[in-house]
Amino acid sequence: MGEIRLHGRGGQGTVIAAEMLANAFVLGGKYASVFPSFGVERRGSAVMAFARYGEEPIRERTRVYRPDILLMLDQSLTENRTHYDGFKAGGTIVANTKHPEAIEDLKLNQQILATVDGVSIALEETGTAITNTCMLGAFAKATGLVRLDDLKEALTLYFQGKILSKNIRSLERGFAEVHVARFTPEKVAAREEGPHDAPVGIKPPVITTPYAAAWDDANKKLLTVHTGDWRYRRPELDKAPCRLCGWCSVYCPVGCMKAGEDGYYHPDLNYCKGCGVCANMCPAHAIKMTAEEVI
Ligand code: SF4
Ligand code: SF4
Repeated sequence: MGEIRLHGRGGQGTVIAAEMLANAFVLGGKYASVFPSFGVERRGSAVMAFARYGEEPIRERTRVYRPDILLMLDQSLTENRTHYDGFKAGGTIVANTKHPEAIEDLKLNQQILATVDGVSIALEETGTAITNTCMLGAFAKATGLVRLDDLKEALTLYFQGKILSKNIRSLERGFAEVHVARFTPEKVAAREEGPHDAPVGIKPPVITTPYAAAWDDANKKLLTVHTGDWRYRRPELDKAPCRLCGWCSVYCPVGCMKAGEDGYYHPDLNYCKGCGVCANMCPAHAIKMTAEEVI
């Protein structure tokens, strides 16, 4: 049995990626199981999902603590050692990043390091920065564990029409463009001890604030706390450089950045708390934080 841990951020389709992967394993004649683990349930927060595959029925129901394979959907997570806890020496890392050297610097004892610029591919093919299907293509190429055709079929369970076509193109480009670096066992053994020998266990954050409790589970809308009252600066959009990628919406921690009638993304000022995450994450630098007028 092999164990896979996926890391991404809320809104990036991490959980669906794990499901599509498990479906592809099953289509390929293997057994598979999958389940998610949310930390803070809001967009932009770190999210994990777990998948197992094998030739025999899978009875384990625990989180994956000792992954053979790590699939990292978000570049900002790849440089943080926490996300590699328990990673087995000689395993495989498949990462959305333009900076593979930053992962190599962590000395993780991986045998395969597969990297691809998933955000650029996703933006070009789907118009959003949601990298999940692209990274599944990269996974297929790097590991050889699932067939590209089985992944394509798995995608049809989740998408249809134009969105399906776009995601299949993203999948194919992830497969074609991933750079796979393979290291010999000697090279792996010669590296310094990595975090695979660190104490095992990923502790999800404990949510204690009234703010977190105010989320309605059904529709993810903040119902009672008007976090807009906290704001002392607000995001201002410059439409000219905006690529309409929706990345600001994915990362907004209160989920208040929405597409408006003009097609551009704007914050709901009842809830925008002025944190500036959208401005930091905008790939086109189209958002500037400006001081709120004091009335
Ligand atoms: S403001 Fe930035 S992040 Fe938001 S849609 Fe435009 S380019 Fe994308
Ligand atoms: S500044 Fe407002 S819109 Fe931007 S991420 Fe923070 S809460 Fe969301």
